[in-house]
Amino acid sequence: MLISRPRGTSDLLPHATAGWQRVEAVIRDLCRVYGYGEIRTPLFESTELFQRGVGEGTDIVEKEMYTFTDKGGRSLTLRPEGTAPATRAYLENGLHTAPQPVKLYYVGPMFRHDRPQAGRYRQFHQFGVEIFGAADPAADAEVIALAMHFFERLGIAGLELHLNSVGCPGCRAVLRAKLADHFGPRAGELCANCKSRLGKNPLRLLDCKEEQCRAAGREAPVPADYLCAECGGHFERVRRNLELLEVSFRLNPCLVRGLDYYTRTAFEILVPGRGAQDAVGGGGRYDGLVGAIGGPAVPGVGFALGLERTLLLVSKQAGGEEPPPDPVVFVATAGETEETATVLLARLRAVGVPADREYAGRSLKAQMKYAAKRGARWVVIVGEDELEAGEVTLRDMGAGLQVRVSLGEVVERLRS
Ligand SMILES: [Zn+2]
Ligand SMILES: [Zn+2]
Repeated sequence: MLISRPRGTSDLLPHATAGWQRVEAVIRDLCRVYGYGEIRTPLFESTELFQRGVGEGTDIVEKEMYTFTDKGGRSLTLRPEGTAPATRAYLENGLHTAPQPVKLYYVGPMFRHDRPQAGRYRQFHQFGVEIFGAADPAADAEVIALAMHFFERLGIAGLELHLNSVGCPGCRAVLRAKLADHFGPRAGELCANCKSRLGKNPLRLLDCKEEQCRAAGREAPVPADYLCAECGGHFERVRRNLELLEVSFRLNPCLVRGLDYYTRTAFEILVPGRGAQDAVGGGGRYDGLVGAIGGPAVPGVGFALGLERTLLLVSKQAGGEEPPPDPVVFVATAGETEETATVLLARLRAVGVPADREYAGRSLKAQMKYAAKRGARWVVIVGEDELEAGEVTLRDMGAGLQVRVSLGEVVERLRS
């Protein structure tokens, strides 16, 4: 019996990885331009990092983590997200003692035991950035602008940016009490999830997608009504900076991030017309996170974007075009010319010409067919007769023309 891949995972074959590489190239170029350095953290971490850094009581930590005990009895977890590992790495490597801010980005697989559905995988990929050590609202605007610039560079149009401020623990304490007052009497109307959140974290109720909860929350108090002066001022500067950067946004007073270390700016990037669930990514400020995992009080802001969804949008909006294949030179042999062909192929590759050869013992005619199928632009036919004159035949597959070229010149000619 064949063994199949685990549920919720995918194999990316060469025709698909070409698109991924293009997206990754845009990420690397943009991050270079914006001044972010790449970090690569382990795919697994101590379970405790996510318990503290993502938060007990979140769906991720309660239901979705791939947690296992290793042979040394340690509890480890495949990373479900990138911010907690980035924060750990920032602290563990002493980056908090370097000049601030520290601007980092990551690209890589994350793991969540979620119900697999279209565009959602158990092993999925995220591009994320973090700025540690900048409380300035201009930093919030920068990461948002970077995210939007990323989609723009990929030719993805029409995404909606939703923006809100969730305030600081100070202003949230007031809001929490007001939310409890509002939802308490309506507890019977709420979904099971929200019922259990009501006592622990009433903020999350604002964000529930269930129809009955949205109805119960229609007149509910929202963070914007309870921002303290500092939080209000910060939010105003974020919006002003976004205007200066010509990033359009929509205020969404119900956009929340439920955990205590999330502060002030919260944003989400949505595909319009695809339902409220359809965020391609989001982020915000998390001034309490570094402290939550045991570090000093360092402000932070960042985002994480889903690359599977991004790729889906690229292929939809760009009509699924693949980049043209590299112009491939195929070295064909006719007769006992194998050794010359081997050397010629090596010389082509040495000067950077993408080139390949026959490995299946095909006839010359079959080799030509195979070369055409591979998309070869040129075929060099190394034939016995030509070789006696020190020449090979160079065939232009597009034009269907061929010429004899001296063996000494053919590499230089194909290179140019
Ligand atoms: Zn505040
Ligand atoms: Zn609900």
